[in-house]
Amino acid sequence: MTTGAPAEPVAPVAAAIDLPTGSDLLDRRAAQTLDARHGAGCLRDAFHVPTAPQGGPTRYFAGHSLGPQPREARTYVAAALDDWATLGVEGHLEGEHPWLPYHELLAPATARLVGAQPGEVVVMNTLTVNLHFLLVSFYRPRPGRFRILLEAGAFPSDRYALASHARLHGFDPADALVELAPRPGEATLHPADLVAAARREDLALVCLGNCNYLTGQAFSMAAITAAAHAQGTPVGFDLAHGAGNLVCDLHGAGPDFAVWCNYKYLNAGPGGLGGAFVHERWANTFELPRLQGWWGHDKASRFAMPADWRGLPGAEGWQVSNPPILQLAALRASMALFDRAGMPALRARGDVLTAYLECVLDHVGGGWLAQVTPRDPTQRGSMLTVRVRGDTAALAGWLRRQGAVVDLRPPDIVRVTPAPLYTTFDDVCQLGLLLAQWRDDHA
Ligand SMILES: *Cc1c(COP(=O)(O)O)cnc(C)c1O
Repeated sequence: MTTGAPAEPVAPVAAAIDLPTGSDLLDRRAAQTLDARHGAGCLRDAFHVPTAPQGGPTRYFAGHSLGPQPREARTYVAAALDDWATLGVEGHLEGEHPWLPYHELLAPATARLVGAQPGEVVVMNTLTVNLHFLLVSFYRPRPGRFRILLEAGAFPSDRYALASHARLHGFDPADALVELAPRPGEATLHPADLVAAARREDLALVCLGNCNYLTGQAFSMAAITAAAHAQGTPVGFDLAHGAGNLVCDLHGAGPDFAVWCNYKYLNAGPGGLGGAFVHERWANTFELPRLQGWWGHDKASRFAMPADWRGLPGAEGWQVSNPPILQLAALRASMALFDRAGMPALRARGDVLTAYLECVLDHVGGGWLAQVTPRDPTQRGSMLTVRVRGDTAALAGWLRRQGAVVDLRPPDIVRVTPAPLYTTFDDVCQLGLLLAQWRDDHA
């Protein structure tokens, strides 16, 4: 078996954490030693890891797309179903966790997760819906200052939403959307280019991911927000790939709003509810336009049904409808696990796991795998994106049949996420062994 030399220098974090080298990288006993040494934050036994074709758990690297099911999700959902069965309409006010204030159960853990005050966050709707709601409030274009800064190659749903709001205000999206692309010949953005772009004076809004969904590159929310705010430009972030992946400090970084989904890193289940953050500075500003409904109305008079809307302070005031309790229940199971592990411990374990994956990919790569994600650990979370030479779809399908799940983005992008909450070093080692086998047979 030929062993490809690392294509690039070993990542700085890998050098600092005595990872195995050479062919020891694919020694399962060495991987199991790493699992014993870097166990803090891993709660694998709390999850149903999806099943492999041969039986047993898959090597699951697609948690950036859909997180696995927390074992306790069934208990939480069953409790809500039981209350419905036994209490009927009284479940709104009775039972261990009445439904009227049920969403409030999520606020403390959600706030800890994204670095916010509890009043700054709310779980509601889904991601793109929340983006629309907050664009109504924070995209206030005027002639000469109507543009929106976003990443070139942003997730299409975000781009559709932004374009539709430009159109709603009478602007041509082709003119209004400023899409920042990497420098020629490069795959990721220079942090300084992002900050410079956020300083443009023709912007009505900066709206970026804090971690790009395709490249896995993480951006500094604080630096971008400071640059935009210096020009009086509001800032929103999409944390779809940041929440539950990166240590976030939304309150301190200071963007005006943020939105995310809970079904990727946050394991809330398919179609799970989204999250929204509105900075404290807007908590009591009811002059901003917003879409209104009864769930954002003052709780004390909500059921008196007054004709005039009186908004709740904070992020809750952006709610419109009464929320789906079963989805909130499933999310509670996952948030309890994030609270138990703690985001700093998860990120610390994630840095080591991802560095190990990076070394393994370098080791088996030798030219047919090219890493897109930055090698600087401060510019990424757990996901590594690689370009694959050859029949990428065949590779992903073969891995799936061997019991390893990665995520294919045609034509040649594969995204691999060792999520620290449930992925093991042994999983990464096994993936490496499979890739080495594929390389020897095909590459
Ligand atoms: C996953 C993802 C979405 C999905 O949007 P939904 O409204 O939850 O369907 C949107 N934007 C980004 C950046 C994503 O990563």
